[in-house]
Amino acid sequence: MTQTQIAGLTKAELSEFVRELGEPAYRAQQIFTAVQQRRARSFDGITNLPKELRVKLSEHTAVSTLRLESRYISTDGTRRYLMKTHDDRPVETVFIPEERRDTICFSSQSGCPLQCTFCLTAQLGLLRNLTAGEIVEQIIVALNDAYSEGVQTPRGTNLVGMGAGEPFLNFDALLKAIRIIGDAEGLHIVANRITVSTAGIAPRIRELAAIPNRPHLAISLAAPTDELRNELMPINKKWPLDELLDACKEFEQSLKPGERFTFEYVMLKGVNDSNEQARQLANLLNRHSLRAKVNLIPHNPAEPLPYQPSPEERVESFREILESKGVQAFVRKPRGRDILAACGQLAARSAAPVSIQQQPR
Ligand code: SF4
Repeated sequence: MTQTQIAGLTKAELSEFVRELGEPAYRAQQIFTAVQQRRARSFDGITNLPKELRVKLSEHTAVSTLRLESRYISTDGTRRYLMKTHDDRPVETVFIPEERRDTICFSSQSGCPLQCTFCLTAQLGLLRNLTAGEIVEQIIVALNDAYSEGVQTPRGTNLVGMGAGEPFLNFDALLKAIRIIGDAEGLHIVANRITVSTAGIAPRIRELAAIPNRPHLAISLAAPTDELRNELMPINKKWPLDELLDACKEFEQSLKPGERFTFEYVMLKGVNDSNEQARQLANLLNRHSLRAKVNLIPHNPAEPLPYQPSPEERVESFREILESKGVQAFVRKPRGRDILAACGQLAARSAAPVSIQQQPR
């Protein structure tokens, strides 16, 4: 396995790489455009490079390092890709087509070190951090599968860093990938179309606030009290709610006009979904006077997780209580549940509906 991953190089790094190979500078631009804009997956497909150069490049680097193992298609059109890295670590990505745009949910780690009890990924533990190239490649693989290599996407693409892993524990690779993905001569998906979700790494929330052209922020809350959150999301013992929400308050200073950040609240039947807990949540957010909205996410059940989703009427009255206390709340529709592609279900498992073995493009 060659070490350099072309998809994870910024334009400046690619120029340096090409210079070291003794090639003229304009070759860097040709390679960047081919990989990041036309989404080429092999040097063979970059036909404006001389054959000898393609051979030379293949000796030093690789365009595609992720191997597509399986693709699952949900009855609602959502697609889940199970890929493997060069060292055989699972990587999962989800493509969610919507009327006006597509959303790609990418992973930042293979597995996850955090132990959220409602999440299947937690059961894998941390296998390793993904590289910037492996994060970028996930977007390329999903877009190529939906629209074919080289074809311009017909709709806008939004990205959410809500797949496997805690993105803020792989911060540098994440930020680098976001810079590469946003390049106007590449995929050109700007940070404003990207949302990154954290389980609550408070210091990173503060760091993110200071970054120009940063992505949007979502925070997974899951509980209105420390007692329950310690149980559901043990990371809370390190950064309890008040500390987390103080960091959010600081982050609020960096919001642009009209921008809000999001709290994600997974709804677990009989665990965190009572009227009393809705009031506690509203009081908590109001006490910190945060300009945020709450997304209520019905839990996606998966064996052996011990939870069931809250019934629809329960979710609705929870939402109404939040709204009545001035907290904007929305109910998120689960997507891709049947193929284990929904939130909290990514654990490199196979699923019953359409599974198509396919080579990466
Ligand atoms: S919910 Fe997110 S942070 Fe928590 S274990 Fe799952 S992947 Fe990790």
